[in-house]
Amino acid sequence: MNPFDLSGRVALVTGGNGGIGYGIAEGLAAAGAAVMIAGRDQAKSYAAVTALRQSGKRAEAIEADIADETSCRSMVAATVERLGRLDILVNNAGIYLGGPPAEMALADWNKVLTTNLTSAFIAAQAAYPHMKRVGGGKIVSISSMYAIFGGATAQAYGTSKGGIVQLTKSLAVAWAPDNIQVNAILPGWIDTDLTRRGRARTPELHDDVVRHTPAGRWGSPSDLAGAAVFLASRASDFVTGGSISVDGGWSVQG
Ligand code: NDP
Repeated sequence: MNPFDLSGRVALVTGGNGGIGYGIAEGLAAAGAAVMIAGRDQAKSYAAVTALRQSGKRAEAIEADIADETSCRSMVAATVERLGRLDILVNNAGIYLGGPPAEMALADWNKVLTTNLTSAFIAAQAAYPHMKRVGGGKIVSISSMYAIFGGATAQAYGTSKGGIVQLTKSLAVAWAPDNIQVNAILPGWIDTDLTRRGRARTPELHDDVVRHTPAGRWGSPSDLAGAAVFLASRASDFVTGGSISVDGGWSVQG
């Protein structure tokens, strides 16, 4: 028996239409899962689903705004309705809004917290009864190095990502008796639209990351697939409440 086999499993990946989410969706699909991709941009979701289907994978897309409670709950319900069950929830979708803390508008703070943290709680809460019904499940949430380190303009983002680590621990304790494992992944610097915008604002960021990452390179979205498949599979059935860094050594370099 292959402990990483996801055949017969259904995974919902928020923000699975691009960047890290797509890298994870591809990995889960390659391991045998049927994947529901959730995002706001339907053209991007359509392209992602088409690419997965072209390589023989089962994939569907749903339009969802995870910052909206109703939309977030409907996304989970629709996954179960269209794919029959829900075994794996990947809370990946997220945004970065920064700027000096003394000047940050409360609306921006709230937007980051709602999108990055509250949505993960709502989606997990909505997923719980479906996972319990099928005898267990896996919840994987994408945090960040900013859960560990501070950043001069990252107060909202870092708070949301630190919150993901703590939410993960509490859900893990609460739902271990239901055979639901809850874990987080802390990516290092990954080449996506989000960080491309960061590099456009701060040109020296590219070289800084290469210099400070022991692996000597930026990560690619596919670098996240292995950890995600592990945390979504039977291989991690006794792993819960944890946070795995996928960062090319960024967080352990002295
Ligand atoms: P991208 O900007 O490339 O992708 C973000 C994804 O989130 C998009 O697919 C977007 O879909 C979706 N999304 C954003 N807001 C919403 C919303 N309100 N409702 C539904 N979907 C939404 O970013 P990354 O791939 O880089 O980031 C993915 C996750 O990884 C984020 O949580 C980010 O914080 C985290 N992360 C990224 C790192 C990096 O170096 N790239 C490092 C550490 C963590 P759509 O456009 O359709 O709305």
